[in-house]
Amino acid sequence: MAVDPMLQFVGRDQAYPAKRSAGDRAADFAEIAARYATPDAEDQAGRCSQCGVPYCTVHCPLHNHIPDWLRLTAEGRLREAYELSNATSTMPEICGRICPQDRLCEGNCVIEFAGHGAVTIGSVEKYITDKAWEEGWVEPVAVGPARGQSVGIVGAGPAGMTAAEYLRNHGYNVHVYDRHDRAGGLLTYGIPGFKLEKPVVMRRVERLRDGGIIFHHGFAVGEDASLDELRQRHDAVLIATGVYRARQVDMPGADGATAALDYLTASNRKGFGDSVPAYDDGTLSATGKHVVVIGGGDTAMDCVRTAVRQGAASVRCLYRRDRANMPGSQREVANAEEEGVEFVWLSAPTALRDGPNGGEVALRRMRLGAPDASGRRAPEHEPDSDTTTRADLVIKALGFDAEDLPVLFGAPDLQVTRWGTVLADSRTLMTSLDGVFAAGDIVRGASLVVWAVRDGRDVAATMHKWLRARAAGARRAA
Ligand code: FAD
Ligand code: SF4
Ligand code: SF4
Repeated sequence: MAVDPMLQFVGRDQAYPAKRSAGDRAADFAEIAARYATPDAEDQAGRCSQCGVPYCTVHCPLHNHIPDWLRLTAEGRLREAYELSNATSTMPEICGRICPQDRLCEGNCVIEFAGHGAVTIGSVEKYITDKAWEEGWVEPVAVGPARGQSVGIVGAGPAGMTAAEYLRNHGYNVHVYDRHDRAGGLLTYGIPGFKLEKPVVMRRVERLRDGGIIFHHGFAVGEDASLDELRQRHDAVLIATGVYRARQVDMPGADGATAALDYLTASNRKGFGDSVPAYDDGTLSATGKHVVVIGGGDTAMDCVRTAVRQGAASVRCLYRRDRANMPGSQREVANAEEEGVEFVWLSAPTALRDGPNGGEVALRRMRLGAPDASGRRAPEHEPDSDTTTRADLVIKALGFDAEDLPVLFGAPDLQVTRWGTVLADSRTLMTSLDGVFAAGDIVRGASLVVWAVRDGRDVAATMHKWLRARAAGARRAA
């Protein structure tokens, strides 16, 4: 009788792909862990207990068919495993790399709760899709019969790319406009290579281009065309512009701090081999410098770890709450600590200024007071705790808000929330403007790649429905 390869979680330990040593990692921008070898992926997939109600799937924003593709992997049916994982996601290998699995699928795996350590879902997902690319199983974009209608998508990030793919599947002419010179949004210019190597993103972009999706690069909506002009050009428009207004820190000398995204974009551009004068002249480079990063989210983690790789003399991260109350992933903090980053918890900067040995940050110690309206304990100043730390480069990574799109796009009737994010109907995902839809961070506020993919999938379905109805109306009127 054939032995069932599943339910092996008691006798088989959880094992993520091995990380490279911290020293090796600091020397380049390659991903920090290799992917599984085939037997390891199959073994780890076989730890799944095949739950009748899989909480992993419930807590995956894409509701991926996780137990099913884990079983196929454990049985060595890798092509079928890939096809099933691809059925619900436009970029499974990217989500497998950078989703915060500890808060999503793996954090809700029942064998984690039972004390055995979650199934390593993200690493298996990365493995099967990378394998599919290698083996040539990744199919070209399936283009449906031409409908004679066109869609304009503003923003080539994961939300825009996902909507573009599904709308092309339906046979629309799809044009994607982006102010950058490469597609991918934050996958390309925000997230560093040590979390997501750039060829992994670029092969997805190429596949869309090969599928007939037309990218207009260096095209900033608001400068090169108004939103109204795009509405004249296309039957429907999707706004998927993300959020890019960096939050400011209010203190004397704050103008001397570098915006996190300027810093990360320069570093990613160097990785592509671009000429970046502000990096080459040292302004946006950490090499040889004492670096201080302000903030405790994932962007701050990306900055400190980039600074290590650029050869900083020292890297400190200042955060006003403690480790348990930081918004960034604990996994990323642990990676940063291994790579030599010093975290100064419960500390807030009060000024940037010149010190006796160069730049310095004045700091004050914080303590956690009573919970605020959100239920989190509010940080408050500890009296008589002022100190300083050396800083030749200060990077502010305090999060992002939406730009003022009604003004930028010359579209005063585009309704936004009080946070500046675009207001979209929760059912149709259409904005206050007829035929203009919105998806991704510009609707949710700064979020995650997997949610952008989900939104792109959902909005493509509602746009298709709306465009079909419009075409039927036009036929009836003719
Ligand atoms: P974006 O990816 O921001 O793409 C928007 C695109 O619109 C950009 O290409 C931009 O150039 C373009 N655009 C904007 N305005 C205009 C205009 N006026 N005209 C033309 N084009 C325009 N999420 C994770 O899940 N895991 C992570 O590890 C992770 N790390 C992150 C690290 C950093 C440093 C940052 C900043 C974010 C990170 N995120 C991470 C969040 C994630 O990247 C975003 O949630 C996701 O990219 C949002 O997708 P989007 O398509 O909505 O927008
Ligand atoms: Fe987990 Fe993200 Fe993959 Fe969903 S998409 S299974 S949350 S890694
Ligand atoms: Fe398998 Fe864990 Fe999902 Fe259950 S929750 S189906 S054990 S991966």
